[in-house]
Amino acid sequence: VAAHEKSQDSLAYSPQIGTLACENLSVLGSLMDAMRQGQLSMHYQPKVDIATGHIHSVEALIRWHHPERGSIPPAVFIPRAEQSTLINLITEFALQQAMEQIVKWRACGIHIPIAVNISPRNLLWNGFTDLVLHLLRHHDVDGRSLELEVTEGALMTDMTRTIVELTRLADARVTISIDDFGTGYSSLQYLHQLPISLIKIDQSFVRRLPEDLGALHIVEAAVTLAHKMGMQTIAEGVESEAVYRLLGKVGCDIAQGFAIAKPMPADAFEQWHAQHAGRFLLQSA
Ligand code: C2E
Ligand code: MG
Ligand code: MG
Ligand code: MG
Repeated sequence: VAAHEKSQDSLAYSPQIGTLACENLSVLGSLMDAMRQGQLSMHYQPKVDIATGHIHSVEALIRWHHPERGSIPPAVFIPRAEQSTLINLITEFALQQAMEQIVKWRACGIHIPIAVNISPRNLLWNGFTDLVLHLLRHHDVDGRSLELEVTEGALMTDMTRTIVELTRLADARVTISIDDFGTGYSSLQYLHQLPISLIKIDQSFVRRLPEDLGALHIVEAAVTLAHKMGMQTIAEGVESEAVYRLLGKVGCDIAQGFAIAKPMPADAFEQWHAQHAGRFLLQSA
């Protein structure tokens, strides 16, 4: 990843430009193959209601297992896919997988909503909302079982259109959350114009807890802002019990991170869920 970032920084008249373009093409080409050959799968990471310990939902995170190169992280291939319409196919894949998983879990008594990550470009795609609504109907899934995680950047690209599309989804009771909150360059204006239920406080703030007072103030302010607007907050990247406890103390509603569980395949999540009887409680509570 570091090498890739470096080559992106030095784009101007660098001989690396050709290499980078080729590399992009080859990644995108093999990503197409990967989709056809079943190398893509979803992992699931629980989000826990801090006050009760109940599982609020699980986030679906894409995984690419390449037969020769091993596992390729989404931070490498998602940004490249986002530069083309390939990202629409990936999102369609993620939504399809999520629907099938919701149906499978429902059949064995697990009623947990699944959150799917949406790229900015997806919201500019004409058929996006129709696709989501179609998939819900087709799989007979209640909108409340689906959450869409949208980044701030995605919301700002075409505000008028975004309001229309997200409102249609919210009318179908799909939950809309803002991912990586606090890292975008947007104004806060959009918050009360959009049907947003959840704010995900970015891990860059959460990771600096509990010591960093600045980060703590930002988290507290985000919690207050969300609650004033009738929304809930999720902290992502919670890596210790101390931070989990602190978040509860400052009124953050939901937590997600390695302190609770890492993202895992569906069957591993089923085991985790059974072991915890559907509730996460701190070891040293
Ligand atoms: P994100 O949506 O903000 O997801 C959170 C990332 O943080 C995930 O990385 C997750 O595995 C990781 N994470 C969770 N808890 C912890 C923790 O306690 N500590 C640390 N250090 N990390 C934690 P992952 O799975 O590598 O995904 C990275 C990003 O790639 C995601 O960020 C999202 O922007 C994108 N992505 C992943 N799957 C999809 C997908 O299906 N579609 C789209 N469009 N983007 C995806
Ligand atoms: Mg996310
Ligand atoms: Mg995030
Ligand atoms: Mg992120």
